[in-house]
Amino acid sequence: MGNNGDGWHTPAREVLRAGPHNQVAELDTNGTPGFSGDKELGTTLLEERGAVLSDLQEMLFANGRLGDERSVLLILQGMDTAGKGGMVRSVIGHVDPQGVDHKAFGVPTPEEKRHHFLWRVHKALPRDGQLGVFDRSHYEDVLVARVRNLVPETVWRRRYDEINRFESDLAGNGTTIVKVAMFVSLDEQKHRLAERLERRDKHWKYNPSDVDERALWPEYQQAYQDMLDKTDTEHAPWYVVPCDRKWYSRIAVMELLIDAFEGLDLDWPEPNFDIEAEKRRLEES
Ligand code: AMP
Ligand code: MG
Repeated sequence: MGNNGDGWHTPAREVLRAGPHNQVAELDTNGTPGFSGDKELGTTLLEERGAVLSDLQEMLFANGRLGDERSVLLILQGMDTAGKGGMVRSVIGHVDPQGVDHKAFGVPTPEEKRHHFLWRVHKALPRDGQLGVFDRSHYEDVLVARVRNLVPETVWRRRYDEINRFESDLAGNGTTIVKVAMFVSLDEQKHRLAERLERRDKHWKYNPSDVDERALWPEYQQAYQDMLDKTDTEHAPWYVVPCDRKWYSRIAVMELLIDAFEGLDLDWPEPNFDIEAEKRRLEES
């Protein structure tokens, strides 16, 4: 908790968890659910909690080195400008890069197109002891693929079940899955796209097709709604994160990740050598 009673008054994992109450079209993307405090407090908190995340991640990594097969997978899904890249930089940026298996999913390559949609996802899964981060994911195959009619409806409709089975197997094999749906308002997206056009250092992020996607906003909202309704499970829960305020979305995902790591009940691994004997050997060397 922060100063003056400010901070998280309801855990992010509770207040952001997807459920029947979540109506994407009605979400207050400017809200800060569960949290009282301003950007300044949020920024301080991000640093403090980043140090906690870093220790937990190092413990997972250390255990992985000694045969622990568990991993954590953060899935970030959101429209352009929702802040996925910044999320990776500011939240995942707190941990040692060698423990991170990061993958950004773009338009499938010709080779990827020849395979089942989960083929490229299997190849990108976190190794034992790693924190996996997906910037976009297999959910594109029920979002853009649906809205843009890239495949027939019969094909994308059966993907929800395929995804649920896939994630269930993954969780059963020791991967803790945290799925974050990031939402900005149509206005905030316009503002962020305008900035990409105005600033020389942001031009590279601008894609003319992003403007075309804006015309399909209601279709995307419906696709996101169905995604949440059909693929929110106990073993692979969705969290709905308002992202108009970047500082809030970042502390929220920070908490969700810390929570996932804490659920692993990690400790520093026992050495597989005799400490006293090694001290003696070192002394004599
Ligand atoms: P960005 O994240 O801005 O680099 O853009 C990546 C682009 O790849 C977005 O326009 C996504 O919609 C698109 N994309 C990602 N996965 C798929 C997919 N499975 N099918 C079609 N387009 C995709
Ligand atoms: Mg883009």
